[in-house]
Amino acid sequence: MRVRLLPLERCEVCVGAGFIQGIFHRMACAGCNGGGFVKQDGTALDYPQLVEQLRLRLAMSGAERKRLQQVLERAGLKPVEGAASGYQGNNKKGAGGAHFTGD
Ligand SMILES: [Zn+2]
Repeated sequence: MRVRLLPLERCEVCVGAGFIQGIFHRMACAGCNGGGFVKQDGTALDYPQLVEQLRLRLAMSGAERKRLQQVLERAGLKPVEGAASGYQGNNKKGAGGAHFTGD
């Protein structure tokens, strides 16, 4: 089965958040089934279709992030900054050139 990316609009009931703040607790938005997106006619996607569409967008977002990271690396810019950089790859500071984080 081929999954097709549907054009979606932001849910105007929850303004894309996917939930509504009730009096006592947060509730999943009934206008979009908690997804934050609706079909172009303004109706909510049913759950299997919603999961499918969000999964496609997540995969696209991950691929885009990876592509942008490669562009930054090719340009000589370091995309990973701060404490996280100590955990990426091998810093060769350990015994025999092994990775060492010190914690
Ligand atoms: Zn909504």
